[in-house]
Amino acid sequence: MLFLKEESMALNTGRFLRINLTTGKTAVESVPESVAEDFIGGRGYGIRYLYDELAPGIDPLGEQNKLLMLSGPLAGTPALAVSRWMVCTKSPLTGGYARSVCGADFGAWLRFIDYDFLIIEGKADKPVYIHLTEDGCEIMDAGAIWGKDTKETQAWLGEQHGKKTRTACIGPAGEKLVRYAAIVSDRRTAGRCGTGAVMGSKNLKAVAITASRKVHLSDPEAYDILAKEQAKLIRDNDAYLHHKEWGTTTTQDITNDLGIYPTSNFRYGKLVDSEKVLGAVYRKMRTGDMGCYSCPARCGKVHTVTAGPYAGAHSEGPEYESIWAFTGSIDSSDIEASVAADELCDDLGIDTISAGVCIGFAYELFEKGLISTADTDGLELRFGDPAPMVDLVRKIGLREGIGDRLAEGTMRMAESIGQGSDLYAIHVKGMELPAYEPRGAKSQGYNYATASIGASHCYGYAAQDIFGAPVPRPTDRFSEEYADVVIFNQNGTAVKETGVICLFAGGWGWVESHYGAMLAASRGMEKLADNDHLDKVGDRIINLERAFNVREGMDRRNDSLPKRLLTEPLQTRGAPGEGQMVSHQDEFLDKYYELRGWSREGVPLQEKMEELGLGFASK
Ligand code: SF4
Repeated sequence: MLFLKEESMALNTGRFLRINLTTGKTAVESVPESVAEDFIGGRGYGIRYLYDELAPGIDPLGEQNKLLMLSGPLAGTPALAVSRWMVCTKSPLTGGYARSVCGADFGAWLRFIDYDFLIIEGKADKPVYIHLTEDGCEIMDAGAIWGKDTKETQAWLGEQHGKKTRTACIGPAGEKLVRYAAIVSDRRTAGRCGTGAVMGSKNLKAVAITASRKVHLSDPEAYDILAKEQAKLIRDNDAYLHHKEWGTTTTQDITNDLGIYPTSNFRYGKLVDSEKVLGAVYRKMRTGDMGCYSCPARCGKVHTVTAGPYAGAHSEGPEYESIWAFTGSIDSSDIEASVAADELCDDLGIDTISAGVCIGFAYELFEKGLISTADTDGLELRFGDPAPMVDLVRKIGLREGIGDRLAEGTMRMAESIGQGSDLYAIHVKGMELPAYEPRGAKSQGYNYATASIGASHCYGYAAQDIFGAPVPRPTDRFSEEYADVVIFNQNGTAVKETGVICLFAGGWGWVESHYGAMLAASRGMEKLADNDHLDKVGDRIINLERAFNVREGMDRRNDSLPKRLLTEPLQTRGAPGEGQMVSHQDEFLDKYYELRGWSREGVPLQEKMEELGLGFASK
């Protein structure tokens, strides 16, 4: 075992709470100094402990899986956009490593009770929730909220424990083990990888934290100066000001113009009526904004539908990915329907990206005659018609009728249908693709292909392809030659997520050295202010995540983009990129593995692992 038991530390390496739902026992433990130096916190601690504590081959929905909820060393401090948190576990969607990031206040609240993270293990014999305070941990009966949606659940917990309480919970989808169920905190979600299903498999409905606001820092004076400098840098930044005004609700303006807005289950790169989904059109439905702890951007734009069949729909969102999931996937420009589907996903606790792609997949199966109304509970699934989409979201969340099959994800559903349906299953490693068409944004696509969690835009976002970012060098978005840029993006993201800082904030003129200085002041470790050290931490995290998957039997075969993108030319309806395909995947992977120090099969070589201090995980 990795942990030490210490009551006091010279350094702030982080404490965590281990909660066993089978035995009801809890233990407070501390992170060893060497682990704090090598992994820092957040995502670093997540993979370090997950690798150490999960036996290979376990069932992700079995009692042996563990659920880690992690904040970072900066959470709960006055610094801006540093209080996000994440979940790490073994994914029921991919069978590999999972990390899913969430916002709202929960990460700060975890720090307020002086924990960097929770390790939740075992399985309760009946529905329970965990209530945490500075004084202790109680495992409570959740009978009154089992079956309730996430709004009802959080309202009930607020009534039980008061205004100083923040929660993370699952909805019916998590209880019913939908493979892409989310964990919801306020109206933010740890959406990807099926973390909500893992929580549901443990009969755990929610974690509630009641706390007063205080955080332990090793050097509070130095930290305070750095936080003030950070606030000044951010508040004057143009990208920050744009994000504050619009959130991500204008990204579809750009991606439709670039021909990379995946449409009709990744057949086209542009919506038929793209002008009807512009950010300015969504702006007319906006009724408020919401955000995460200590972030003035408040980028969650709230939309309310006032007329038509979806009147009354009200959602903190949809943000870009969800706008796309509920328009692009089925070639619909009905933005009211997108708000209704988004709200339903948050209520039921479902990842919007996987839900949208699964629904687009069902529409295409219907179009191709591979399923019929006998399979769809009578629904006619026609591209352009959003009405069945909202029904399908509900069916997925409750595993009703065809929803029960779609709840398994596109990979498993295609395996059960056969007949060439895998051509329409748009996933990497079993996780559905997000809202950027790889044939028109190749570095973004190869980030999906090589990400250990499956197709995730956030694993190493290729801002070079989408926004023309010039660092580390500009890309030609149709070229497949930027393995070094993909690695740069992935490693940099891993460093930021040790924080756990918001990835948007990384584009607000807040340089890595400033982040490192804040980490150093928080942990009391000068080494964390060294950029070379930080770069190595990012590399180390990515390599250990890869080693986790290798131990589960994954290799090069799992690093492929979906068959459609390798065999069908992109159609862009007049936007740039007509006819593009992914044509050089093998050459790309060869280069990527070589630069990473991995074998031709995509396995980290012993020399590389030793160099990173990961000899314990080399094959
Ligand atoms: S920019 Fe948005 S997602 Fe990021 S911390 Fe701020 S409110 Fe949260």
